[in-house]
Amino acid sequence: MMFENKGDSNKGISELGEFGLIDHLTDKFAISQETTVKGVGDDAAVLACNSKNQMVVTTDLLLENVHFDLSYMPLKHLGYKAVVVNLSDVYAMNARPTQITVSIAVSNRFPVEALEELYAGIMAATKIYNVDLVGGDTTSSTTGLLISITALGTVEKGKAVYRSGAKADDLLVVSGDLGAAYMGLQVLEREKQVFLVNPKSQPDLEPYSYLVERQLKPEARKDIPQLLEQLGVFPSAMIDISDGLSSEILHLCKQSKVGCNLYEDKIPLDPQVITVCEEFNLDSTTVALNGGEDYELLFTIKMEDFPKIKGNPHLSVIGHMTAKEEGVHLITRANTKIPIIARGWNALKDEKE
Ligand code: ADP
Ligand code: MG
Repeated sequence: MMFENKGDSNKGISELGEFGLIDHLTDKFAISQETTVKGVGDDAAVLACNSKNQMVVTTDLLLENVHFDLSYMPLKHLGYKAVVVNLSDVYAMNARPTQITVSIAVSNRFPVEALEELYAGIMAATKIYNVDLVGGDTTSSTTGLLISITALGTVEKGKAVYRSGAKADDLLVVSGDLGAAYMGLQVLEREKQVFLVNPKSQPDLEPYSYLVERQLKPEARKDIPQLLEQLGVFPSAMIDISDGLSSEILHLCKQSKVGCNLYEDKIPLDPQVITVCEEFNLDSTTVALNGGEDYELLFTIKMEDFPKIKGNPHLSVIGHMTAKEEGVHLITRANTKIPIIARGWNALKDEKE
């Protein structure tokens, strides 16, 4: 066991956390190619292409029993979701996705029909988002199913939006609503436990339809970059919400070297999230902050652009950026100021939410 963590002189992976680990491993890599416009650290890398356009590249890895549970995730939905989570990162750069590659590792417990289902989902996503499947790799797995997707996209030179462009006084805006995918997961986990005890039970998921759909069949917000262009608003910074609102706000603040005030009463929640949070005895703000997998876009705009987005049903202003020294805070309904710390889903942390 060459890589076993033996003494406490070695720093544990869980101590570093996911982002600490990425920094630690990639820090010493210098950029040497003229065509590398943006390397590690944003939702996608940006590469010079020609005088007019740039390319973006992003990749994601999904592992059975870490990122998905096949006891309630239909394979068709899994294929669809695996594509969508990658495309979400492309839209977060203000780019348009063009191609994907799909790599899988499968154990022989899967019949061909199962993989056909997976690919039916992948195909549905390629049609809806208008991307071409152009390659991948296939290998065997001794454990579970593994899916790795890479997405490529294109953006006009000068139009890419990074995590690093937010300025003090910019408004913080989010699309859609938050927390539903996480609550969908709670519902599905609960039904799984019920099913394990009583396999004859038939769950009634109707009251949870929106939540379950957000968990099993998320969509990437391809409409938002288009909408912003129509409205004449160019975001100063943007990120997609995969890990949770608090984690993504911290990424924006860190990379833009600014602080932020987030207002609890402005966080958009679907009524079903509020009801089901009560049922599960969970605080809906905590769920919206830390739940993750919403795949909404979080971005900042200049204050003077507020009239252009005001009242738009797809967009909510949830806060504003401040000077870095002011820190990153949640302003609660009771008007108290609480520091925001990253407690988003983190695969490498031992303690799970
Ligand atoms: P996202 O949540 O948007 O998919 P991640 O948090 O996965 O982004 O990754 C943050 C940044 O770190 C991205 O630029 C990604 O390409 C890079 N990254 C993640 N893991 C690695 C790795 N093992 N080696 C090199 N770069 C990585
Ligand atoms: Mg992202």
